[in-house]
Amino acid sequence: MDITKKAEFTIKIPPQVEWILKKLRDSGYEAFAVGGCVRDTILNRIPGDWDITTSAKPVEVKAVFGKTVDTGLQHGTVTVIRDHVGYEITTYRIDGEYEDGRHPREVEFTSDLREDLRRRDFTINAMAYSPETGLVDIFGGMEDLKNRTIRCVGNAVERFGEDALRIMRAVRFASQLDFSIEEETYRALSGIAPNLAHVSKERIQVELTKTLLSGRPQGVLVMEDTGMCPYMTAGFPGIFSKARESGINLEERLKRSALLPQEKSLRYAVFLGHLGEKGACTILRELKLDNDTIRRVKTLVRFMEETLPEDGPALRRMMSQMEDSLFDSLLLMRKTVFPEQMEDVLKTESRCRRVRERGDCIRLKDLAVTGNDLIAAGMKPGKEMGERLRYLFELVLSEPALNEKELLLKAACDARKEQPDGGQNQTEKQ
Ligand code: ATP
Ligand code: MG
Repeated sequence: MDITKKAEFTIKIPPQVEWILKKLRDSGYEAFAVGGCVRDTILNRIPGDWDITTSAKPVEVKAVFGKTVDTGLQHGTVTVIRDHVGYEITTYRIDGEYEDGRHPREVEFTSDLREDLRRRDFTINAMAYSPETGLVDIFGGMEDLKNRTIRCVGNAVERFGEDALRIMRAVRFASQLDFSIEEETYRALSGIAPNLAHVSKERIQVELTKTLLSGRPQGVLVMEDTGMCPYMTAGFPGIFSKARESGINLEERLKRSALLPQEKSLRYAVFLGHLGEKGACTILRELKLDNDTIRRVKTLVRFMEETLPEDGPALRRMMSQMEDSLFDSLLLMRKTVFPEQMEDVLKTESRCRRVRERGDCIRLKDLAVTGNDLIAAGMKPGKEMGERLRYLFELVLSEPALNEKELLLKAACDARKEQPDGGQNQTEKQ
C-alpha cells in the first residue's frame, strides 16, 4: 500500500454505497464513505456497516432519496434503505460544546469535510473515501494504520475530555485491531479516567464486551493499568485485586479465551470466573448485561472449577443442570482456558457423547411418567407430586434403565409405602 499515492488509492465499496454517493453527487452535493468502513476495508476486514458523510443537509438528503428513515435527525442523520440494508447518511458537522463529557450540547452543520473529520476520535477513523476523489486523509490515518497505531485526532487530553467514552474506544480498537496506543494518547487515558463516572453503564458495557470478544481480550488489562476501573462500576477493581490475591494469572486466562468462540457468556465467564458465581453476577448486573447472558455465565462459573464426574450418575446429574449447548460450552471453556484439564475433559466429552447416543434421560420432561400418570395411580395432586417426580427423576439419573413407566410407577408406590405418612412428607430426602 503506497501512502504517497493516496488520491489514486482505490478501495472496493459495495454497489449500494456507490449508488448513494453518486446520487448525492449528481444532485450537486459532496458525499463520502467515512470512518470505520474505510478503516476496515483498507485493513482487509469486513466493515460492520457503511456510513456516509455529505455536505447535503438532512432535508436535502431526504429530497434526494424520497424514501428515508429519520434515525437521528438532531444529529443530522438520515437512513436510506437499499436492498434491505440501512445506510446512515450524516451531514458534515462540528460537534458543539460537550455537556457532560459525553453528549455534545449541540451539533452545528458545516460545508467543510475537514471540520467533520476533525471531530472524529482517532486518526484511523477520520478518513473519507469516494471513487471520484479517492482517499481523504488529513490527519495521517493511513500512516497510523500502517504503523498499527491508535492516535487521537488532535490533542488527546482535549479530545478525551470532550467525551470520556473515547478512552474505552481506544482500548477496544487496540484490542480488535491488535494495534498499540500511541504514547501521548496512552498517557491521556489515565488523566481522563475519572470522567468515565459520567458515562452510562450500558455504553461502558458495549465497549468492554467488544474488547472481550476481540482477538486480544487481554486488552482489558489496559483499563487496570490506566486506572479506569474504579470509574467503570463499583465492583470492577475487585476483578483484578482478587486475581492478584489468589495468585491467578488473569492475563494468561484472557489470552487463552481468544481461542474461544466470540460468545459473550464464554468470554465473561473466563474474565470473572475467579470471583465465583455471586461476585461475577454482581458485576454483570452493574454492567446491565442481558438476563440470558447472566444466567449462562452463572452456570459456567458454578461448574468452572468443579471436579469432572468419573461416574455416570454424577455426569448425568451435571448434564441435567444445563442445556446441552451450555454443557458443551463449559467443556470447551475448561479445556481451552485450563489446558492441564485437557485429558479429563476429553474423557468427559466421550462419556457425554455416550449418554446422548443412548438417549439417557437427563431432563425431567423426558421422564417416562408424568404427574397425570401418578394421579391415575392414586396419588394426590399437590406439592408432593412435584417432589415425587423429582425423586423419580433422581432415580433415573442414577439408573437410566429405570426410565420405564411401569418401573417408575412401582418405584413411586414403594417409596410411598416405606413412609408411615404415605410419602406425604419426604421433603428432606431430596
Ligand atoms: P465499529 O462499527 O466497528 O464499532 P466504527 O469506527 O464504525 O467501528 P462507530 O461507533 O460505528 O465506530 O462510529 C462511526 C464513526 O463515527 C467512527 O469511525 C468515528 O469516526 C466516529 N465516532 C464514533 N463515536 C465517536 C466518538 N465517541 N467520538 C468521536 N468520533 C466518534
Ligand atoms: Mg460502525
